[in-house]
Amino acid sequence: MSSVFTKIIKGDIPSYKIAEDENFYAFLDINPNTKGHTLVVPKKEVDKLFELDMVTYTGLLQFANKVAKALEKTVACNRIGMTVVGLEVPHAHVHLIPINRASDINFTTKKAIMQHEEFVALAAAIQRNF
Ligand code: AMP
Repeated sequence: MSSVFTKIIKGDIPSYKIAEDENFYAFLDINPNTKGHTLVVPKKEVDKLFELDMVTYTGLLQFANKVAKALEKTVACNRIGMTVVGLEVPHAHVHLIPINRASDINFTTKKAIMQHEEFVALAAAIQRNF
C-alpha cells in the first residue's frame, strides 16, 4: 500500500505544497511544531532515510537546502532546524522547522495551531521565495 506521502505526491490527498521537482516534494506539516514546519520527501518511496541510495539521499539534502533558504526568508526565526524522525510515516523525509529555542524542535511539546487559510497563505509566501 502507498504511503500517505506517496498519495500526497500523486495528488490523491491534498497538501500545502511548497515546491517540487522531478524527484522531490516539499509541503507544510499538517501538525506543525512551529509555523512553517515543512517536510521534504523523495518521490521514491523508501521507508528509512539512511536506506536511500546515495544519489537520492544527497539530492534530498540539496533540495531541502533550497527549501530551508526560502523558509528562512519567509518566517521570522533564529534559524531553520532540520531533523529526521520517521516513526509515524514510513516514507523517508526530513523535517525543516523554523526555531528560536531548542524546545521548538521537540516533537513532544505543544504544537502550533493553524487554520486552513493560514496554511494556504504561508505555503504561497514560501513558494514565492523559493
Ligand atoms: P515522522 O514520521 O515521525 O517523522 O512524522 C511524520 C510527520 O508527518 C508528522 O509531523 C505529521 O504531522 C506529518 N504528517 C502526517 N500526515 C500528514 C499529511 N497528510 N500532511 C502533512 N503532514 C502530515
